[in-house]
Amino acid sequence: MRMPSEGDGPISGAGTLLGILRDGQARTRAELVQLTGLARSTLAQRLDALVSQQWIVPTEEAVSSGGRPAVAFTFNRSARVVLAADLGATHARIAVTDLATEVLAERAAEMPIDRGPEPTLTWLQRTFEEMLTETGHSMAEVCGIGVGLPGPVEHGSGRPVNPPIMPGWDGFPVPEWLGGRLGVPVLADNDVNIMALGEHWAARPEADHLIFVKIGTGIGCGIISDRRLHRGAQGAAGDIGHIRVASALDTVCRCGNAGCLEAVAGGAAMAARLRAQGVEAADSRDVVRLVRGGNTQAVQLIRQAGREIGDVLASIVNFFNPSVIVIGGDLSEAGEQVLAGLREVIYSRSLPLATQHLTITASELGDRAGVIGAAVMVVDHVLSPGTVDRSVAPD
Ligand SMILES: [Zn+2]
Repeated sequence: MRMPSEGDGPISGAGTLLGILRDGQARTRAELVQLTGLARSTLAQRLDALVSQQWIVPTEEAVSSGGRPAVAFTFNRSARVVLAADLGATHARIAVTDLATEVLAERAAEMPIDRGPEPTLTWLQRTFEEMLTETGHSMAEVCGIGVGLPGPVEHGSGRPVNPPIMPGWDGFPVPEWLGGRLGVPVLADNDVNIMALGEHWAARPEADHLIFVKIGTGIGCGIISDRRLHRGAQGAAGDIGHIRVASALDTVCRCGNAGCLEAVAGGAAMAARLRAQGVEAADSRDVVRLVRGGNTQAVQLIRQAGREIGDVLASIVNFFNPSVIVIGGDLSEAGEQVLAGLREVIYSRSLPLATQHLTITASELGDRAGVIGAAVMVVDHVLSPGTVDRSVAPD
């Protein structure tokens, strides 16, 4: 396959042109010439290539001066569909979206991840097929599948690596297994990473440096640095749940170490503490239900958890200097009860310069952050300039 490079002929720049049109705004040839500085003939070839692949469509734009209507080009968000899944520890959310990541159909279901990879992915495959039929689409229209998993995922291969709550998944080839059966490209990543992508794309596009903290059964964070997801060398960046905190030194974490943040402030840990106090709570969602119902022990626990998490985030704010911290995951639904303690500690413990313009807020996408982010991951990949250039000039 030919590798495109700068100035490699008219077609090879088609992906960059599509990148400009992805914002959904219609633009005429004259506007595009002005924006890109391309010669008219070069622009025409690139537009033709994108139209022939249906990535863009021509529309007639009325000209205000009363002249002949000029043809404008706009991103064809309906050219393909995306399948997205956010698989959590106990429940899953699945969506079909268009190329602008608008949700066309959505389902939530109880699906414990510890059933193992083959039963889970077989169920996922069947659900995807049903939802495509429901929305009147076929697998031929799917440009890719994005899957979020509740554990560490090696970035290059999309395989889970020693995931603590996913027995049987270690090293399982998720992209090959699912892609082999459905015949489309599959990308897999850690669930917190895709939530960060989704929240950044849909709710905070102006933030260059953002941290998305998921507080659910466990605790983790996704990092957007300079508008890109920062995964680290192996894909393990952001695993703040296993940072050591003084108050947890006597507590053994599910990872085997003692003293992890998650072992005192995670949803599973809080539910266990409530049970020890004679309050019925099976998981993080029960903790939220109790907090909302005004249960004093649960309220005290969650405020304390907010302060514990804030303590770790205060150091991260000093180190990374984000402009936005978004709190998501099941326990973020306890709202101000968790945010108050978190803000209190971060603003008092981080450097003034780092907190001067810092926003700490609950997720706007809520439990949809994962599926939107999984779709963003796929669309960014499929519509990356290099991939588009290859799709319009295959050889
Ligand atoms: Zn741990």
